[in-house]
Amino acid sequence: MVDEPETLNEETPSSVPFRAEVKQLLYILAHSLYAEREIFLRELLSNASDALNRVQFEMLTNRDVVDPEAELLITIDVNKDDRTLTIRDTGIGMTRDEMIENLGTIAQSSARAFLQKTGKDQPISSDIIGQFGVGFYSVFMVADRVTVISRSHRPDEPAHQWEATGEDTFTISPSEKQERGTIVQLHLKEDAKEFAEPWRVEQIIKRHSNFVAFPISMGERRINQEQALWRQAPRQVEADKYADFYQQLTLDSEKPLLHVHLSTDVPLDLHAVLFIPSRRE
Ligand code: ADP
Ligand code: MG
Repeated sequence: MVDEPETLNEETPSSVPFRAEVKQLLYILAHSLYAEREIFLRELLSNASDALNRVQFEMLTNRDVVDPEAELLITIDVNKDDRTLTIRDTGIGMTRDEMIENLGTIAQSSARAFLQKTGKDQPISSDIIGQFGVGFYSVFMVADRVTVISRSHRPDEPAHQWEATGEDTFTISPSEKQERGTIVQLHLKEDAKEFAEPWRVEQIIKRHSNFVAFPISMGERRINQEQALWRQAPRQVEADKYADFYQQLTLDSEKPLLHVHLSTDVPLDLHAVLFIPSRRE
């Protein structure tokens, strides 16, 4: 937990300092040049997908959640004039405390490893950033202001808004959002306005997040693949698709050595794809 002043009133906006290691990470992300900035979207979509998985799992045993009937999906909106990109999910959401904890510290092991590899004044090669999932904070490669509005699945927890500009503090304040889930809105840097172009966003989703198991739609259109790869008939899947799936799943920069696709209906309904990496760990 981040230390907060004792007198903090939950209903007024408050400014909370980021932890030291987050400041360091933000500094690196905001001030370096990258060839692979587009992976921020993969990170956001993977968080949205995790949140949807978690609420789906929660609802197996608990129906006392906000919006139990809500469809599980991810929607994306872009606005070129305002230079914004907005990602919404109907996932598990976050409480006020969870936002402070999850978006103010580094829990993630790969972000730590990233920091160890890069050091403050060292140049970063562009593949390092693609290779490590630096997670949520990667948004600061492309955005100069990030707003997260979230309503937890817990019925007695009101929504809150978290906002940061990549400086040393973030603010947290109450929000009116009634529906369960999370909205992440990026205000893009001038040199990142390409990420408010629908064709560009679609290209990135196909490249990095095509196999996300929940629908990702922009406008009225679904962007990602509709049916899980392992559920398709092996003879209908093009060879490249297996490699794409493997690489999106594992973040391995090389294609797999081989794959085996098992698909039977009788006597067991069984679908699986086994991959052998091209290199040992
Ligand atoms: P990781 O996904 O590896 O845990 P991230 O930096 O990507 O690390 O995200 C940090 C945490 O923030 C997540 O573990 C999750 O608890 C929370 N989080 C981020 N995005 C969402 C979201 N859309 N819905 C709910 N929780 C989220
Ligand atoms: Mg993540």
